Amino acid sequence: VAVGNRARTRGEHETCRTPGCGRPTQRSAGQGLSELYCKAHVEFHRRHGSYWHPSLRAAELQPYRKAARRWLRAHRSDELLASVAESLGRMMAGAGEPSSAYDLRHELPAEKARVAIARLGKAGVPGIRLIEITMAVSARVNDLGPIGDHEFLKVQIAKASHRLASGTHRSTSGFPMRPKYPHSAGKVLRILGHCIWDVAAIVANANAVDEVIALAKPEAEKAAKVEEQRRANLALVTREIKRLERMGIGPASLERQRAQLKRQYGIK
Ligand SMILES: [Zn+2]
Repeated sequence: VAVGNRARTRGEHETCRTPGCGRPTQRSAGQGLSELYCKAHVEFHRRHGSYWHPSLRAAELQPYRKAARRWLRAHRSDELLASVAESLGRMMAGAGEPSSAYDLRHELPAEKARVAIARLGKAGVPGIRLIEITMAVSARVNDLGPIGDHEFLKVQIAKASHRLASGTHRSTSGFPMRPKYPHSAGKVLRILGHCIWDVAAIVANANAVDEVIALAKPEAEKAAKVEEQRRANLALVTREIKRLERMGIGPASLERQRAQLKRQYGIK
């Protein structure tokens, strides 16, 4: 009891630990349990697995996935690789029936993770693809330098795997529809990521990941430059929109302007 009281008093004036945030912690704002982070950063962490680093973009992972595929091709006669791929295949095949997104809303995280794994199996994802994802994400995360702990890695493995089975559906008219399954966050991502990583990392170990990083280097550097340019262009568009806003341009025109500027700078 004494410890609890002390923690509560100490929490009263504490601010969020995320660099540059400065908002009061959840506890001191009376908005939740966290004594270390604010409400916004607790939610960010739930979605991305890090308090400050956003999720990896598909384009950002692409050079690493290519490199991982090269690595896997070069090692295709390894018995260990074959048996790990088989284990992952069995895990997906043995996960049972995927239920509908509608049924899932009230399920526990472990059940949601089971369904996510079953859906990968239903989508025909081979075990080796999960090794490729684990290698690519591990390589990218390593390349980024220290980002918290294993949690970011596992959440990102889960998100990248999730995408294999839940891409945006296209309607018959060709317009993208809302994804059938909502974006996941929270515990299900941790469980799903851990299940895949736990098996795949037998092959996607530190040595293999270092080799994938080396293979990906030339293309990853090119991709990083493109990304840097994209961010710079995006900042430019944002500045220009703010300028127009200050001039009193209405929201509808602003949206048109924004779309046009984005097209002009090739930002999707
Ligand atoms: Zn914060």
